[in-house]
Amino acid sequence: MRATLIDGKAIAEKLRDEVKTQVSKRLEKGLPVPGLATVLIGDNPASEVYVRMKHKACEEVGIRSIGKVLPATASQEDIEALVHSLNEDPEIQGILVQLPLPAGLDEERVLNTISLQKDVDGFHPINIGRLAQKGREPLFIPATPAGVMYLLNETGVELEGANAVVLGRSNIVGMPVSLLLVRANSTVTICHSRTRDIPAIIRQADVLVAAVGIPEFVRGDWIKPGAIVIDVGVNRVEDETRKRGYRLVGDVAFDEALDYAGAITPVPGGVGPMTIAMLLRNTLRATRLADGNDLG
Ligand code: NAP
Repeated sequence: MRATLIDGKAIAEKLRDEVKTQVSKRLEKGLPVPGLATVLIGDNPASEVYVRMKHKACEEVGIRSIGKVLPATASQEDIEALVHSLNEDPEIQGILVQLPLPAGLDEERVLNTISLQKDVDGFHPINIGRLAQKGREPLFIPATPAGVMYLLNETGVELEGANAVVLGRSNIVGMPVSLLLVRANSTVTICHSRTRDIPAIIRQADVLVAAVGIPEFVRGDWIKPGAIVIDVGVNRVEDETRKRGYRLVGDVAFDEALDYAGAITPVPGGVGPMTIAMLLRNTLRATRLADGNDLG
């Protein structure tokens, strides 16, 4: 079997085009253009790159974005005061505090400060809490997990009743993906660093979402023939044949997996592009909420 590739780059591009069209329609109608504020604290190089990518993506679809930067020495109160001022700013409909925060800061308190209606990253404890409860609807779903679900739906896989295995239980990927799969009526098994015999569990999975952050952790012969595999991992491995000295690989041994999976996302070009597309969508949604639209 040769797996079908799930082309996250192409799917994300389509989503970004849709956001762009919606933003220009707003302009034509004289409605406010969406505004996103990012908050970056400290000088974590990876966070700086992510924030830059988000601003560039906003610019490409016509979303206004402003970047607020505080030094790593900023106090908890400084950060919360900044978030409060953005909550009050009518020009800003979405607020994203780039995580992780420098050591010593209370992440939960900062996330709690963001207005629910502007929580485009979906990490406000109330939004996450609603995700975990039957019959409750979060206003926003975190971008990477939302991207994972979008890709799964694009494959046409029947999630209802499917055995889904999520590898990883982090707040930003594994846990929200698991909650979303439960909402989609899959039977979900969450694996983590204390799980015994992970290969045996993965062999039962009709759907596998890998988010452990370990290069090529999942071997091809662990995968149930025909399973749908979404690889969230982004890992650098040394590669002297590359100019930059490394290449990016996922949490799944991609070449091996091609012989087993029914469909699989590549790394790069799978989940990564979807994350930004979903953030743009969430920002547009926040703007429609601010218009007073009940989005259901
Ligand atoms: P994380 O916070 O480090 O969480 C890793 C999870 O994997 C934890 O739940 C951990 O278990 C589990 N784990 C670690 N070692 C394991 C092992 N040997 N066996 C089984 N489980 C193990 O990572 P994350 O933030 O969720 O990110 C995961 C990956 O996704 C990373 O490669 C990251 O770069 C990537 N990522 C990509 C995007 C994107 O947009 N494409 C976005 C976010 C993250 P414990 O809970 O027991 O420690």
